[in-house]
Amino acid sequence: MTDHAFPLAGVIGYPIGHSKSPRLHRYWLGRYGIAGDYVPLPVSDDNLRHVLHTLPRMGFVGVNITIPHKVTVMSIADQVTDRATLIGAANTLIFGSDGRIYADNTDGYGFIANLKQGAPDWDPSLGPATVLGAGGAARAVISSLIDAGVPHIFLSNRTRPKAETLKQDFGSRIEVVDWVKAGNVIEDSTTLVNTTSLGMQGAAEFRVPLDGLRPGTLVTDLVYAPLRTKLLETAEAMGCQTVDGLGMLLHQAVPAFERWFGRRPEVDDATRNAILS
Ligand code: NAP
Repeated sequence: MTDHAFPLAGVIGYPIGHSKSPRLHRYWLGRYGIAGDYVPLPVSDDNLRHVLHTLPRMGFVGVNITIPHKVTVMSIADQVTDRATLIGAANTLIFGSDGRIYADNTDGYGFIANLKQGAPDWDPSLGPATVLGAGGAARAVISSLIDAGVPHIFLSNRTRPKAETLKQDFGSRIEVVDWVKAGNVIEDSTTLVNTTSLGMQGAAEFRVPLDGLRPGTLVTDLVYAPLRTKLLETAEAMGCQTVDGLGMLLHQAVPAFERWFGRRPEVDDATRNAILS
């Protein structure tokens, strides 16, 4: 917890106008009656290091980091958590009272917390997971699935070498599957995760064949705009459990808010509605 009378936090990206984080953190600040603020900070690459070393002197207790700085901040931070190192990117910075910068990655935590809340009976150890995509978000998802005890992960990405790199980084539980064969392994999985941007507003349509999906499989989509993606709608119609991606965005913010503002916030319907309204 900070000893600042009016702690400031924010989100740094470039551009930053699209971020839902200011609305989320301000909602929690208001709900819990906490003095403080959370602001969007558009910062280009050239200015990032200087800004990060200046903010602690201006009353900032930390910031979230988003595209395109999630990897760069790792080399600016004074200390990086093991999970951020494994993922290779940071989304949360905490500023010590001495100005030191601690970098963490809470995306994997948010991913699992969302599944536990949305599908309380989900047991990751029951069978393999299929993960579609091998970008930045996939690294956090894979690392957290392994921590949660998933025995095997079928990983499929349009650009296969990127999936091979993840296998090298995360180990033998991962089996890389050709993108055109992704539909074939779905029937062997008890969990299916879309970490690609397919199905997102403005992106290409999700076209991976889903005929093999078994009823009861847990299906989750990191895409949250739209909230009910074609993947989730199809899975639901086939008798699967589905969890949307908005909850991951909300849950990943919990540890940072608690650290910066001294109160663990709840992720509930009121929180979801505040962000969606
Ligand atoms: P990224 O690093 O740019 O990765 C994008 C992924 O999508 C790659 O695997 C890419 O495959 C794949 N892809 C893009 N267009 C494709 C296409 N036409 N056909 C097949 N695959 C395609 O992005 P990211 O940061 O991982 O984010 C991925 C998605 O997750 C985004 O929609 C983002 O908004 C969402 N996300 C949500 C949360 C949340 O809290 N819910 C958190 C993080 C991210 P290639 O490698 O072949 O290009």
